[in-house]
This record gives sequence, C-alpha cells and structure tokens, in this order.
Amino acid sequence: MEVQLYHLTKVCVKNMVKEKELNKEDWFFKILRPLEFVSKNNFANLSKTKGLEKTLNFLINQAPKEYSDLKNKLLSLCHNLEILSVEEKKERIKALLDILLSLNFSSKHEKEKNEEPCKIFDFPARKISFETYIKHKEILRKPVQFLKGVGPGIAKKFSKKGIHIIEDLLFFLPRDYEDRRKVIPIGDLMEGQRAVVFGEILKSGTAFFSKRKIFEAYITDGTGFLTLKWFNYNEKVWRKLLAPGKNIYAVGEISRFGRSLEMIHPEIIEEGDEEKIALEIGHIVPIYSSVEGVSEKYFRKIMKNAVEDYVDLLDNYIPADILKRRKLVPINIAVKNLHFPEADENIWILKREESIYHKSIAFDEFFFLELALALRKGKIKKECGIAFNVKSKLVEAFLKKLPFELTSAQKRVIEEIKQDMAKSLPMNRLIQGDVGCGKTVVAFIAALIAIDNGYQVALMAPTEILAEQHYHSFRQYAQLMGIHTALLTGGIPLSKKREIYHGLSTGYINFVIGTHALFQEKVDFKKLGLIIIDEQHRFGVLQRAALRDKAKGVTPDTLVMTATPIPRTMALTIYGDLDLSVIDEMPKGRKPIITRLFLDYNRGKAYEAVKEELKKGHQAYVILPLIEESEKLDLKAVTTHGEYLQKKVFPEYKVGILHGKMSSYEKEKIMHAFKRGDIHILVSTTVVEVGVDVPNATVMVIEHAERFGLSQLHQLRGRVGRSEFQSYCFLIAYKVSIESEAFKRLQVLCKSNDGFKIAEEDLKLRGPGEFLGTKQSGYLEFKKADLVKDYEILLWAREEAFKLIEKDPELKNYPILKEELMRRWEERLKLSEIA
Ligand code: ADP
Ligand code: MG
Repeated sequence: MEVQLYHLTKVCVKNMVKEKELNKEDWFFKILRPLEFVSKNNFANLSKTKGLEKTLNFLINQAPKEYSDLKNKLLSLCHNLEILSVEEKKERIKALLDILLSLNFSSKHEKEKNEEPCKIFDFPARKISFETYIKHKEILRKPVQFLKGVGPGIAKKFSKKGIHIIEDLLFFLPRDYEDRRKVIPIGDLMEGQRAVVFGEILKSGTAFFSKRKIFEAYITDGTGFLTLKWFNYNEKVWRKLLAPGKNIYAVGEISRFGRSLEMIHPEIIEEGDEEKIALEIGHIVPIYSSVEGVSEKYFRKIMKNAVEDYVDLLDNYIPADILKRRKLVPINIAVKNLHFPEADENIWILKREESIYHKSIAFDEFFFLELALALRKGKIKKECGIAFNVKSKLVEAFLKKLPFELTSAQKRVIEEIKQDMAKSLPMNRLIQGDVGCGKTVVAFIAALIAIDNGYQVALMAPTEILAEQHYHSFRQYAQLMGIHTALLTGGIPLSKKREIYHGLSTGYINFVIGTHALFQEKVDFKKLGLIIIDEQHRFGVLQRAALRDKAKGVTPDTLVMTATPIPRTMALTIYGDLDLSVIDEMPKGRKPIITRLFLDYNRGKAYEAVKEELKKGHQAYVILPLIEESEKLDLKAVTTHGEYLQKKVFPEYKVGILHGKMSSYEKEKIMHAFKRGDIHILVSTTVVEVGVDVPNATVMVIEHAERFGLSQLHQLRGRVGRSEFQSYCFLIAYKVSIESEAFKRLQVLCKSNDGFKIAEEDLKLRGPGEFLGTKQSGYLEFKKADLVKDYEILLWAREEAFKLIEKDPELKNYPILKEELMRRWEERLKLSEIA
C-alpha cells in the first residue's frame, strides 16, 4: 500500500490552527516526523512512501525567519529527491536529519503547563443606556426554545439541567476542555492520550474479537498506523462512512492492544464536513457536563450559536475601572472565552479553572453578594438607633456576683459592644468564638445594659432545647437582679403564651428567650432595645430583619453569637453586613479535651474509660445520630441504646434519655435532672449540640461518629471541657477501615481542638452547601465561584463593593448595576427595603 504523504501532511498542517508563524520548536518537530518515518527500521518505509520531496519542501518553506540560512541548505538537499536512487535518497535523508538534530531540541515537553497567559486585556468601556440594558435582559430571559436547534424536546431535556432561559444556557459553563488545536501525527501518539488524528482509511470492515463481532478501520497519516474499533455500530452506515481511501478525523483516547495503538469508539468527522470541522477541530474544545439525550457535538453546536448571537447582550454591569484595577474582564468576554477559548489560550490554566475568565466570573458572583451586604450594612447604619447609657449599675452588681474573672478577650469584646451601644446608630455585631469561650456571659452583660436603660431584650435560639438552656442559665442571674424573664417557644401551652404576650406588650417582662416563635405576629414588644441571636447561621439574614421589625420607631441593637466556628471565608459572606468581635481566648485553667477514636469492636474500652470518670463523681454524655431504630440504617437508637447502657453497662448509675421527639416538658425535666446531677449519663441525640452547659460533665461518647460532620462533632465535643477538670471525648466509628477517608477525617478531631482549623478542613471536605446545612445552602450557591479556592477574589469583591457603596450609598450613579443587583439578590436577601 502506498502512503500519500504530501496530501496528508498538507491537510494536517492546514488544520494546525491558523498559525501566523510556527515557532522553532514546533516547526522542528513537524519536519522531523516524516524524516523519522521514512528512516525508521533501516528505511523500511521509504520505498512505499510517495510525495516525500513535496512534503519536505512544503515544511521547509514554513521554517521560522531565524532559520532562513538553514532553509536554503535544507531545500537544496531535497532538490530532485524523488528521482534519485534509493541509496542516494537515504544519504540525503541522513544529511537532512543530521542538520536538524544538530539544532538540539530536547524531547518534547509540556513546558507551557504552568505558564501564565500572556494576554493583556484592554477592553473598550462599553456604555449602554438603562433602556438598552432592560431590552437585553428581556431577550436573555426568553426560553431556550427560542434558540436555533432547540425544539420542545431538547428544551425539556435542558430544563432537567436547570437551563430554562437563554441566560441559563450561557452560564452553563464547560466542566473541562480538550486540546484539539493540533492534529497529532500518528507516529507521535502516546498511550492514554486524548488526541485528534487525521488519516486515510486503508482498510475497514468487521472482525471478531473474542467471539464478538466488531468493526475495525486502519488508518495512516504517513507517520504511523492506528486502528479504530467499534463494539456498537451500524454496519451499513459504518462501511460507507469508513470506506477505504477516505480521509477522516478521529478524536478519542489512545489505548494499546498488543503492539499497536488503537482508539475505541472514536468520534469521526469526515473530510469535507467543513461546518463540523470548524467547530470540533483546531480549537480548545469545551466539554460540558452531559445533558441526557443531547449528544456532545449537538450541544456544542447549540452553544456555539447561542454564544455567537447572545453573549454580548450580557452587559458589563460592574464598573470598568474596578475590572481594570483587578485585571478582570467584563462578563460577556469571560463567558464567551470560557465556552470557546481562543487557540492561544493556556489550556492548563483553563482546565484548572484559574483563567482570567474564571476569575472574572467568580468576582462577578462575589461582587453582587458583597454589594448586597454592603447595602444592608449601609442602610442599617442610617437607621435611627438607641444611644444607651452604658454605665450600668446592674452590670456592676452582676460582675460582683460572677464566680470567675472575665478573660481579657471577653473584656475586650464587652468594650466593643459598649461602644456600639452608646452610639445612636444601631449595633449590628457578631461575636464569634470557639465553643466554651464564654459568649453567654458577654451577651448577658449586653442584655443588662439594655434592661438598665428601660428596654426589653429578646434572645433567639435555633432550637427549643437551646432556648430552654439559655433560659435557665440566664434566669439564675436574672432573678438575683430582679429581672423578669420568660421562655417563649412553640411547645409552650397557649394560656401561658398569652400571659407572655401580655407581659411583653406591657413591658413587665424585661428579657424573653425563645425560638422563632418570637417573631410571630402576636408578639408585641413595649420597648424592644436589644436582640441577641445565638447560633445565627441557622437563621440567616432574613429572620434577623423580621425580628428587628418588631421594634417600633427605633431600630434595636443586634448582637449575634455564633458558637459555630465559621471559617473566615464563610463569615465574610454570611455575616458580611455585621461588625465582628472575636473571643479568641479560653477561660483560665481549661485543659484541652483529649479526643480518641475507637473502632466499633473496641467500644468497650471507651465505656470503661467513661466509668472511670463517673467514679470520680463526674457525668457523661452519650450521643447518637438518630431517634428511632431505622430499618435501613443500622444505627443504635437512643432509647434502645439507653436501656442497654442502663442494664448492661452502668447498672449502678442513673441513665437519662433525651431526644427531639420528646415534649418540651419532658426535655426540661431531663435536662434539669442532669444539671442537678441526679442523672449521671445522658444518652441523647444531637439536641445537646449547642449551648448546653453542665461543667461537671467531663466525658462524651459519640456513637457512629462517621455519620457526623467535623464541625458538628466539634460542637458536640464542646459540651465537655467546661471546667478545670480534664475532659475526654471518645469517637466510635462503625465499619470504617483505617485507610478510609472517614477515618482520616475523624483523626483531624483527635489532633486539634481548634474549631476554626476544623471548620476549614470540614469546608474543604464537604463544600459550603453541606457545611452549612440545607437551609442556607441556596444562599451560598455559586455558579463558578468557590469559597475556598477563590478566597482572594472574595476579598477583592468585598473591598470593591464596600468602597463603591461608601462612595455612592444608593448606587444613584449606577442604575444598571443596581437593577442587576435587585434581580439577583432581591428575594434572597430581602433588599427591597433598601431600594
Ligand atoms: P460558649 O461560648 O460556648 O457559649 P459559655 O458562655 O456557655 O460558652 O461558657 C462556657 C462555660 O464557661 C460556662 O460554664 C461559663 O459559666 C464558663 N465561663 C465563661 N467565662 C468564664 C471565665 N472568664 N472564666 C471561667 N469560666 C467561664
Ligand atoms: Mg453558648
């Protein structure tokens, strides 16, 4: 068989991207290929190769400028090559090879991998009118069916992927890229590589492969041979498509079969199918997460049309000076280049999602979030608040009664709170600190100041049990100070509730503690001055606003406490509208909790250690993940396990049981008994997770620890270690191997007591959605931005957004930006009150 080298090479080169000029190295490898091919195995291919002279002339003429001297030398060696004798040909080819190899290019490598893209962006600042923006938005809101090639069937398939309108489709960004810029000479292919090849079909037809009928085609491009294989095919169609003599492109992964290379189920594009070639070959090709029932190629075609026709309707909402300062590009440029990158982009950076376009998209998402938060913050600052007199007799009296000295961190945070409270602007502050650092006392002092000024205080907790817990701890102090407290949760009988409503509206009750029941319509405060919210991330920005609306005329101060050590990244987004105080010191004498991990068959040892603590007069928690025995999950239910522990393990001690399905009365009774020490071992679900405070409890066993998130475990563990006694936490993991991820994850806890470090780990492992629980995840879902990876961009966005709002608090000069902000965040952040 003969190989038409010239023809093939020409097509290969033609498709190697519209390169103005090959660089030295690329050219070198290109010309080396045919020479190596013909000289291989002592010139075995030479006699069957046609068109070598033409090929070489063609390639030599492409030599870079620097090689113009060399070029003539090479051309003369090629002159009349075709009519020479075989021996003479060999000599010439050897001479050519010698010259080329003396250029001394080391083996081909991927040095481009880590280079930054060298593009410098200077985009024209596009100015459009508000009306044009609205018009563009209307078009982008049209259903996808409006697009070329999208009928009702495909539209339905798209909607399963969340693509409903044109804008959705534009933001359906590639998940990966494939380098199809170059057609790879078959002789250069490597096993495992994904590649585009171009070749002539030498032979094709069915064959048997271990009893299975398959379809095979052999192709060559003059540099080597490749087998294409199909296990599923339509023989008639394939015979036509792959008729010998045809030239085709094949795209796929290279694998090895015996001594030869092959491609299984390659994508085939026929020579001459110009439209497809233009879209699929010669570029960095985007790979999308697959849409069921729509082929990759067809999806790309739809996307190509959509991007061409609509991407520029995405307007440059973010002021151009900000983008320039941060070296970012407008959203339309970013989206366009992410879908169909130019051939000279650095594919590795694209693949790693670190391109300027990825950054621009992340910035865009963060910027609008931070803008919303900046607006909220700005708006709150404008409201009329209460200027409290912070020299409080109640506080003085309280501090005298306190059995311990405040830590310097607590003192510092109290000062920060006092400064806020003294101002006539509303306070909006977050106290962040690890479990057990003593936030409650700090919050109580703030409450005392408000009450001393004749105002009421409301404390909102995320769960009934926590509300009850707070109620009991605060009431102890409160009673001594002559303060009337009340507990208001959903579980309280109606008659009692009515009494509380009355007490709140007359002002008799100074301090109410409760759950979300606090912001029901019937609740009417006489003079609400301070809102304290515990474990805020469970509530979110919305509820905070709802409770604040309960105050009449003036805006009460808000103090948010979070015992969940939220990583800084999170804190900036979730609490972006709050001022931050951090208690970064533990009360004196606290010993770090000793945490140990046991595999299930060793749990006896853990309970032995618990017994030791009980003998010393301490108490214990045993935590389980579920309330009732579930058939599906082989989990130990609280009741069963509680009874088992009582009878078999701790017959000489009193075991109490606590779970979410109990009535508030029952829960309260149990908690009381535990607090008094009547119950020694409290077997509980995660209802004890937050806030429960029994310093004499020094040991905790967590069953099925592998089912909890790290941060949650850290929270749970924080229920012990609340005194100067050494405390312990025993994690029991079921059915995990020592090599497993779960095991490694749990070891993070054994090694660290630092909630922030643990939270960072957790966030990395689980992503923000799961980290925060379902309630908040929608609020933190980004298309491309990643809170962990793009932290720096988040900081930029925050800085720029806050700067902009400071300059123009109502975005009067940025009507388009403001409109876009409202569209994106109005519902999620209740911005309407700001506009
Ligand atoms: P958290 O920050 O987790 O809410 P708490 O406010 O519940 O922590 O405090 C944990 C325990 O430490 C409580 O028993 C509290 O009385 C005690 N405590 C708080 N501050 C101090 C301090 N400065 N010195 C000693 N014990 C303290
Ligand atoms: Mg607390």
